[in-house]
Amino acid sequence: MPGLATHAELFCKNLVCIFLFILVALAPLTSSTEVRSESGSSEFCSAGNGEGDCSINSGRVLSLELLDERDLAETTPGDTGTGASSTTSDKWSVYRKLVSEALEAYRPCSTDKESNVRVCYRRALKKDLEPFADGISRDAFLSVLDHGTVYQIINNRLYRQRDCLFPSRCSGIEHFLLKLLKDLPDTEMVVNVRDYPQAYANHAAAAPVFSFSKSSVFDDILYPAWTFWEGGPAIMLYPQGLGRWDLMRDRLLQSADAHPWEKKTPVGFFRGSRTSADRDPLVLLSRQQPGLVDAAYTKNQAWRSEDDTLGLPPADEVSLEDHCQYKYLFNFRGVAASFRLKHLFLCDAVVLNVESDWVEFFYDELKPWVHYIPVRKDLSDVQIILDLLRANDDLARQIASRGKEFVFRHLSLTNVEDYWKDLLTEYSKLLRYAVVKRPDVYEIKNTAS
Ligand code: UDP
Repeated sequence: MPGLATHAELFCKNLVCIFLFILVALAPLTSSTEVRSESGSSEFCSAGNGEGDCSINSGRVLSLELLDERDLAETTPGDTGTGASSTTSDKWSVYRKLVSEALEAYRPCSTDKESNVRVCYRRALKKDLEPFADGISRDAFLSVLDHGTVYQIINNRLYRQRDCLFPSRCSGIEHFLLKLLKDLPDTEMVVNVRDYPQAYANHAAAAPVFSFSKSSVFDDILYPAWTFWEGGPAIMLYPQGLGRWDLMRDRLLQSADAHPWEKKTPVGFFRGSRTSADRDPLVLLSRQQPGLVDAAYTKNQAWRSEDDTLGLPPADEVSLEDHCQYKYLFNFRGVAASFRLKHLFLCDAVVLNVESDWVEFFYDELKPWVHYIPVRKDLSDVQIILDLLRANDDLARQIASRGKEFVFRHLSLTNVEDYWKDLLTEYSKLLRYAVVKRPDVYEIKNTAS
């Protein structure tokens, strides 16, 4: 079943439940397959104004380096979680040090409030295009035709192959392309609108496929997902999809205001479907310790039985706006990166990001301990992280506030448009041939106005 584990996998996960807190680590979890439904470091840094900086650890490296220190903290005696004793205070000082070191190493992508638009994501853009540094030949382009839908831009007009696997996703992409047409050079690209990336990095020749998300084993070129404008994922609460990001931003900010930090509930919160079994340990922990974590599985369109919600009936959905009632919000990968991440930050809550190398174009600029807290993939440190946050409310509040500020300032719809523009401008420079209109494309026109 797409996106969900088999019965055998569920059985294994229940065993994992029994031994979760005895075993040091879980065996690697199976990866999900695609949900085929509409629901669903290097340079470029010193950009003109000198605001870029290449010296920042990637989130993944930093969080892995921390494991030993966290192990130390876990074995510290006197773990009451209250922060009352000096022993406990010593224990939290390890984490406070991690935060201050991360802050020291952090160089904001922009310090200029007015002209921050372009600078932030250039590192990501450069990294994505690196495999194509020698240029993209016509043959390389033709070799990936089966992996997505061809778009062409010729003389500032937009063309597309007739078939699009998910029309509303294509429409969400076309919103941006149409808006930018007058500034874009002639070009052509293969756009994958599936959840899953297509271009394995170990292939002899890099394959120029545009995808919204990838992990480290893929060379896909990341584009801002359709969902910034339309195209899902649709759930019962958002039957037309999560909807326009600019409107959602406003609603989330309002909800954050309605649920100020001191009134938020201090538990870890998660609602979502079982698009990846990585989420199982948190749901199981919630069943054991509901005062610590409130995590439950909802239905998605692939739901068939309670096996798909880990043996219990599906939980009611909770709107993203209502997530803002909670202080600590979990993000997990799903089939690929989950669209939820950017929303969580705007709640002004601490984002607990479960380790995963699935990313969207903006992920690399969000830093562990600066904007969010990294959580081990096997979730073995959830208890101690939640204890830390409860015992160090100011630290938690500051991380929440920095995360919100980043997404508020650097992930607006204008930023997304600018990323599209920079991406297509730089990508087009790599094409080693003149783009000629294909016989199988038709013109996409702006029907909105
Ligand atoms: N979602 C939500 N409330 C719920 C369940 C899901 O707002 O009760 C949102 C979730 O944040 C995400 C989308 O619906 O943006 C799809 O969530 P799901 O867990 O099904 O898949 P994911 O994309 O996270 O793998």
